[in-house]
Amino acid sequence: MEEKGTISIHTENIFPIIKKFLYSDHEIFLRELVSNAVDATQKLKRLSSLGELKEDIGDTTIEVSFDKKKKTITIQDRGIGMTAEEIKKYINQIAFSGATEFVEQFKDKEDVKDIIGKFGLGFYSAFMVAKEVELISKSHAEGSEAARWVCDGSTEFEITKAKKKERGTTVILHIADDSEEFLDEFRIKGILDKYCKFLPVPIKFGTKEESVEDGKDKDDKPKYKTVTTDRFINETEPLWTKSPSELKDEDYLNFYKELYPMTEDPLFWIHLNVDYPFNLTGILYFPKVKNDFEVQKNKIQLYSRQVFITDEVKDVVPEFLMLLHGVIDSPDIPLNVSRSYLQSDSNVKKINSHITKKVADKLSELFKKDRTAYEEKWDDIGIFVKYGMLSEDKFYEKAKDFALFKNVDNKFFTFPEYEEAVGANQTDKDGNKIYVYTSDPGKQDTYIQSAKNKSYDVLLMDGPLDSHYVNFLEQKLEKTQLKRVDADTVDKLVDKDEKIDSVLTKEQEEKVKTIFEEAINNPAMTVAVDSLSPDEMPVTITMSEFMRRMKDMSKMGGGQYAMMGSMPDQFNVTINGNHPVVDKILKAKKAEKKSQLAKQSFDLAMLSQNMLTGSDLTNFIKRSVSLAAE
Ligand code: ADP
Repeated sequence: MEEKGTISIHTENIFPIIKKFLYSDHEIFLRELVSNAVDATQKLKRLSSLGELKEDIGDTTIEVSFDKKKKTITIQDRGIGMTAEEIKKYINQIAFSGATEFVEQFKDKEDVKDIIGKFGLGFYSAFMVAKEVELISKSHAEGSEAARWVCDGSTEFEITKAKKKERGTTVILHIADDSEEFLDEFRIKGILDKYCKFLPVPIKFGTKEESVEDGKDKDDKPKYKTVTTDRFINETEPLWTKSPSELKDEDYLNFYKELYPMTEDPLFWIHLNVDYPFNLTGILYFPKVKNDFEVQKNKIQLYSRQVFITDEVKDVVPEFLMLLHGVIDSPDIPLNVSRSYLQSDSNVKKINSHITKKVADKLSELFKKDRTAYEEKWDDIGIFVKYGMLSEDKFYEKAKDFALFKNVDNKFFTFPEYEEAVGANQTDKDGNKIYVYTSDPGKQDTYIQSAKNKSYDVLLMDGPLDSHYVNFLEQKLEKTQLKRVDADTVDKLVDKDEKIDSVLTKEQEEKVKTIFEEAINNPAMTVAVDSLSPDEMPVTITMSEFMRRMKDMSKMGGGQYAMMGSMPDQFNVTINGNHPVVDKILKAKKAEKKSQLAKQSFDLAMLSQNMLTGSDLTNFIKRSVSLAAE
């Protein structure tokens, strides 16, 4: 039996085109060929379990090896194998049809990048690295003869009889000159580790190494010997394929360590296991995120039947869960397709909402089961919950029952609990509940203490998402406003329309205002005199909540507020007309003394806002010293 033939495709040289455009992904040839070997082995096992295989199945280890001298990479399986007829049918027709289709599409379309991703080139991908591919196969079918197929990537092929005793297929790649980088132990090992680490059939990687043997030969040169090392490179039953009931916490933690060596233990995990209406398995871990957001992103690995596909799971996993770690395995996610296609895929959408629901259920369960433990984890969990609420309404609907507020005294409240706790004292004249928060307890301490003196509760909102979250909560929570603790003088923070009588006359107020305006001499500071409680500071600097949020938005690049970013900050300076210092200023004889006292009180307010720097700070210190010496 010898046959030469032409593969029936229309384009003569698809090879250079594919080679050129798939450049960055050349390494996937190995994934494709090993996957084919795994498929062939699985098919054999199925036949055997159906009682359709006469012989004993034997050892089905797949072997990958390479020979640097001969410039070959070999993939050998003991799967179902193919007869000569099957090779013609499956390899010539099926394998090449994918490639042909690719080129056909490529010819008409302008956006090449978009098309490339759409085709799993399977067997044909071998030609990305090989100038010639040899396939020797013996079918499992009784009495079949082995066949050898050779092709150089053109449309010509050759089939001959072969000597092969064992059932299965051997693919030998004769590596092209420009792909010799692949003839390297570490390169191959790296590719196998990346894509084949969890394949369901044992895979061995064999390397032949020349090593110096003891002693010298007769010419006094060191003697060499060849050492062959075979290593199993995969774990055939990774944790996510097992039943959750068989597994202990320790197993999950160990698997996490295996996936991400050198990382802290995760907080908890979710074992996904769905059969219908789509197939999905996997384990998602909640890492300790703290505030180092970006570092934790893009760590979920996507598999299809235990073959690694990508760690870009952007469209499969909801955006807010991109911080999770772990593995997702689904044969129902279309592979090798472009982004835009993935987004509109209905299975992907279903998987996406399934994951969202599972995460919400898990959080709810943890919250109900052990509130204290849940609170202890809140600093890490909070970021997911907030991100989730901000980005998906469905998630918000569930999360509003287990989302927590944390106050500056480390006490936690659910939304309803908080309303109950502060509602009575923090409702303004219009019936709005005012939730007071701090974005930086260290810097805003003076204001926090004033708020506490009024028995207001102060929430801690110092996370990376909190400025968005504050806006969001106002939209969601009924008749509720959030105000940063320094958004107004403490008497105005919750405006209850309680007037404190002023000790100053109208004329005196005007006088005080002018003295301060001249002493401060800064257009960014709008001065007003108000009658506050005498216990309050003589001067308070605030920025209105509205102004601050616009500023924050513009910093984050919010389109419609972008112009605000270039505007100078505008502050309100409130002089407490009832404070004894003001009385002292009015009574001072010399204008110089009035100005000095006004400046000193203003600087103290600046200091409590962390705004006193440079020469202002130096002058303040000098003035303080001379005032102390008086
Ligand atoms: P796909 O695997 O997506 O079907 P491929 O181009 O990779 O496409 O392979 C084409 C066909 O060739 C396979 O469907 C299979 O029938 C056959 N085949 C490829 N490799 C092997 C192998 N190692 N053993 C048996 N059959 C194989």
